[in-house]
Amino acid sequence: MRPKHSIVMSQGCPAVPDSATEIRTGVFRPDWAAIGKPAARQALAGRMAARAGLPDRWSRKLDPEQDLVWRAALWLYADLGHAPRTIDLAAKTGLAPADVSVLLDELEARDLLALDGESGQLRLAYPFTQAKTEHQVELNGRTLYALCAIDALGVGAMYRADTAIQSRCRHCGQAIRLTTLGAGRTVGSVEPSGSVVWYDYAYDGSAAASCCPSIAFFCSDAHLEQWRPAQIGHRTGTRLAMDEALEVGRAIFGPVLVESSDAER
Ligand SMILES: [Zn+2]
Repeated sequence: MRPKHSIVMSQGCPAVPDSATEIRTGVFRPDWAAIGKPAARQALAGRMAARAGLPDRWSRKLDPEQDLVWRAALWLYADLGHAPRTIDLAAKTGLAPADVSVLLDELEARDLLALDGESGQLRLAYPFTQAKTEHQVELNGRTLYALCAIDALGVGAMYRADTAIQSRCRHCGQAIRLTTLGAGRTVGSVEPSGSVVWYDYAYDGSAAASCCPSIAFFCSDAHLEQWRPAQIGHRTGTRLAMDEALEVGRAIFGPVLVESSDAER
């Protein structure tokens, strides 16, 4: 049974009990209904508490055209297996390329995606990036790169599809492989079976630049414990078992592509 109230204290910050933002009519992010395990609940509340003093750029309600371009970017990213070009987004949405460029800038200001500084083309849209990260996600026959372990785990719930994830232990480099089942709702196989996730709370305005690089898989608790003290500065975050980490990924990414009409059912 879910605890009725959030129970988390993170570095003295008060918890944010069950807070969520309506990203489009009837669709709330994060989706607390995806959270059943106390550790997952604590991690999500800890993340939100750690960001409480910062402007919430990630999950405010979007204007309809921003939302259209955001979703088009994510659908095309998965369909193509790489970031779509502005011209692809214009064709998909029926908007003029110049208007798409303006909307992409606005979405970048909200840290929902990022553009290449020189070309102005899309280079990442959470959970995916053009950078060859250690987190490979197989989705519908395409291999994509996720920004972090939680992003990789959230892909299945976001696209309502099963995924196969291949990553590496951040400490020793050993391959870590896992699958999701039930359209991304549960963890299937995990190798090595004792693999865990470090969920880092650091945030300074861009997830890609702050917390993502430290949200990683580890082959064992022992290797997580060996890695942590060696990091520069004090890392605030939490250790999650794989099924707990999947719940956090589902809560954050599950709502992203949900239509308002689906949410009302
Ligand atoms: Zn290891």
